[in-house]
Amino acid sequence: MSERLLTLDQLTKRYGDKTALQNVSFGVDQGEFVALVGMSGGGKSTILRLVAHLEQPTSGTVTFRDPNTVIRVMFQNDRLLPWMTNAENVSFHSADKTTQQRALTMLAEVGLAADAKSHPNELSGGQKQRLALARALMAEPQLLLLDEPLGALDALTRRKMQELIASICQKQRLTTLLITHDVEEAARMADRIIVI
Ligand code: ADP
Ligand code: MG
Repeated sequence: MSERLLTLDQLTKRYGDKTALQNVSFGVDQGEFVALVGMSGGGKSTILRLVAHLEQPTSGTVTFRDPNTVIRVMFQNDRLLPWMTNAENVSFHSADKTTQQRALTMLAEVGLAADAKSHPNELSGGQKQRLALARALMAEPQLLLLDEPLGALDALTRRKMQELIASICQKQRLTTLLITHDVEEAARMADRIIVI
């Protein structure tokens, strides 16, 4: 028995006279891991921005069952803050002890327990993405949006990250929308694939 978390209905987005997206409709169920696969320029990131409320559609609707659904996004660019330690990047520099402790738990979850006190620039590309994942999970999102987060990683690191993300999402029954141009990646990670 599954419940619909998110519904996209006849979604269209135009930039001037350029159509980025035309009449896209699909739904995502609670706890489901969905991959959106398509060619570059096909409108995948546009869909994600519309779902994340970062932009408004030209027409059509994005509807959440719960309008207060907590959403976090992970991009290819990790968007870490270089002047903060890795732990602070996850805890958002909170002075609250419980938050700090939770940040350390999240770091351990992604295999960075030993790197709490160092800084993002001391991490490899894969480790940076793991840190970005820990930061995204810190908010306990009900929907995780991934916009080609592994695109810049080498093949082996990418494989490991795919396994890590898929296993964490599965363990937490976290509803996830992954954008990728890599069909194999989609097949490996997702319950369902939507081709754009
Ligand atoms: P994808 O993520 O699948 O590669 P995008 O959603 O980024 O595709 O882009 C879809 C199309 O919309 C592309 O042709 C792109 O050039 C265009 N586009 C995206 N964002 C903008 C924008 N802010 N202004 C104008 N055109 C845009
Ligand atoms: Mg894109």
